[in-house]
Amino acid sequence: MDQVNNSFDVIIIGAGPSGCSCAHQLLDAGKKVLVMDKSKFPRHKPCAGGITMKTLRHLPINIDHLVEHTAKEMKFSFGGSKEINLSHDNGSCVMVIRDKFDSYFFEQTIKKGAVFEKIDKIKQITNTQKKVIIEVDGKIYEADFLIGADGANSTVRKLTSDLKYKTPVYAYEGIVEKSDLEYVTEFIFNESGYAWIFPKDKHYNVGIGNLIPNKNSKKPSKKDLFSFVSEYFHTDKITNITAFPIGTEGDSYKANDNIFLVGDAAGFAESLLGEGIYNAIVSGKYAARAIIDSKLSSHSANQLYNNFLDSFTKELKLYRKGSKILYGYPRISYWMMKLGLGKKFMNGYSTGKTLTEIMGKSNVYLN
Ligand SMILES: Cc1cc2nc3c(=O)[nH]c(=O)nc-3n(C[C@H](O)[C@H](O)[C@H](O)COP(=O)(O)OP(=O)(O)OC[C@H]3O[C@@H](n4cnc5c(N)ncnc54)[C@H](O)[C@@H]3O)c2cc1C
Repeated sequence: MDQVNNSFDVIIIGAGPSGCSCAHQLLDAGKKVLVMDKSKFPRHKPCAGGITMKTLRHLPINIDHLVEHTAKEMKFSFGGSKEINLSHDNGSCVMVIRDKFDSYFFEQTIKKGAVFEKIDKIKQITNTQKKVIIEVDGKIYEADFLIGADGANSTVRKLTSDLKYKTPVYAYEGIVEKSDLEYVTEFIFNESGYAWIFPKDKHYNVGIGNLIPNKNSKKPSKKDLFSFVSEYFHTDKITNITAFPIGTEGDSYKANDNIFLVGDAAGFAESLLGEGIYNAIVSGKYAARAIIDSKLSSHSANQLYNNFLDSFTKELKLYRKGSKILYGYPRISYWMMKLGLGKKFMNGYSTGKTLTEIMGKSNVYLN
């Protein structure tokens, strides 16, 4: 086994949006950053690739060239003729191909100065209070801080925290080529959860998921995806089908010592429509800021990150309340959206507001 041969200010495990967002902030502040990932980029990440307007404000890179569609028209369907059509000139989100987005974000992170290691297996993580020691693939690395940005199946979470997903949620997605039929961005709610249609340049990303499962609810299956596509697109041609968990149970997460979880690793995707890229980018950014700001503050980085989490997780709790109404009482939800809430959401999302702001409250962490 090598002795400590690699010493960094911060080691980030996971080079998805949360890891790259965190790295960008740290590199801007002159920190020595190592990013590790089990994959080489480009790699596939199951994701519909909808990036909301509020996310663009926090994203440290310009992605105009990756935008394949802007969701100016949206439809929410509750079965039968219960449909709500909404529109806004800005669009509620931009659509990217997730693999291309991640690959570009990764490239820009390396260009900025991050060191990258493709790794296989993390064997052990030890926190000595002064340093975090990571044993991986027969090598030892050390850093002042470790960021767990390794997604919904996070190894860092499993090795360093007692945070567990009680009811893990996951979604199936696939690709349907564009034909004569035109679709806008659509969410369809049904008894087993929700389905989506996200337009791209040459295809639709389609998927199904269940964001608030309980022991009685039916688990989404590949067969359900085929039934949905057959009903909507009159075809059984779906390519690139993949399923993956969405990390949604981080409403009460608090960071320990010098190890911070961010993004899906911490369970920060919201449980209403499964948006996780925003929460990944924002949590990565504020974990980095906590580390940077602690040098000039009487508070530790841990305290600063946890202060941020206090208000950030309030927003996740608000989403959870919303999802209980949406999935528990779809009829009421339909009428609430029809009578004004839908328009309020569309306007809010399209002007880059968070849910807290849309509901008329202030948001302390937004700057
Ligand atoms: C089907 C589906 C559709 C979705 N659609 C949307 C959407 O349209 N919009 C939206 O906002 N959100 C969507 N989400 C949620 C979104 O994909 C996640 O919230 C987001 O990717 C979280 O980013 P992250 O950086 O935290 O984790 P990830 O993007 O999962 O990145 C984690 C990284 O860590 C690496 N890694 C994992 N384990 C290890 C390990 N042991 N060692 C080293 N590296 C490791 C992985 O290779 C990966 O690169 C969707 C999710 C799913 C499953």
